[in-house]
Amino acid sequence: MKSLRHFPFSWVCRAVPLFAVLALLWPEFARAGYSIKAPLADGFDQAVGKPDAKGYYIFRGFWPNGHLGEDWNGNGGGDTDMGDPVYAIADGVVVFSDDYKRRWGNVVIVRHAYREKNGSTVFVDSLYGHLDKRQVRMYQVVKRGQQIGTIGNCHGVYAAHLHLEIRKNLKIGMNRSAFAKDYSNYYSPRSFIAEHRSMSGRGETVSIPVDSFGATNPDEPRESGTEPPPNVAKNAPKVNIPTRMTPKANPEEDRRKDLNEQLRLLAEENKKKTESIKDEDMDGFWSKLKNKLGKK
Ligand SMILES: [Zn+2]
Repeated sequence: MKSLRHFPFSWVCRAVPLFAVLALLWPEFARAGYSIKAPLADGFDQAVGKPDAKGYYIFRGFWPNGHLGEDWNGNGGGDTDMGDPVYAIADGVVVFSDDYKRRWGNVVIVRHAYREKNGSTVFVDSLYGHLDKRQVRMYQVVKRGQQIGTIGNCHGVYAAHLHLEIRKNLKIGMNRSAFAKDYSNYYSPRSFIAEHRSMSGRGETVSIPVDSFGATNPDEPRESGTEPPPNVAKNAPKVNIPTRMTPKANPEEDRRKDLNEQLRLLAEENKKKTESIKDEDMDGFWSKLKNKLGKK
């Protein structure tokens, strides 16, 4: 009799803290399952030297079928940027955080939702590779400019730098070889960021699908304890994940935009160079010219 009387009490004693811990650990899953509610991105910034990459430069740009992201280095070159902060380029949810080893090292992927001018909601993934430290966990909601890790060297494989990718296709994950390495799946990061610095949607939240590339990455290493609780995931509604997130994907248009962007950057650089040429550098050339023109 004694043991029966005590049974419900001890069950409650055990269950309450368990549920409290679950609720603390997975508040988002308790509500949404395969998707997580997070704010719409109100704009995109650079991942280093936030918000404008001050003190950093791209030493290797994006090129389809070649380099599918940008390599960012500190102005000091070499390993001077080792351990520098890396920031989320926009509000979003962490959908991958692991040491992938191989030629990747520590990798974080953040998924962002934003609103197009036509009102449709679009998703993109930003990938941060070769990190020294990862400072976010799977399924964590992160803010624009929040530090998510530090610049690393991929366990000594490279000189320290950040490899940054922006993907249209949410299924890629760490399985790049299964997808076309071009503008149908990727953005040129600097073009994308330049075109999405400021957006509407501040304060709005949306459901962001989070398990889109698990199935395409059978050997994908996962941190222990980062899977959603099975009972929640099983009962959660399936979220439809389109393979191509841009409603009217137009690789040719993107390529043209990227070339234009590169030309614009070149022109800007040349303009800066011209502006920085002072009269004394030119041995009085400009004053002489002005005088000459004035005399006419
Ligand atoms: Zn790279």
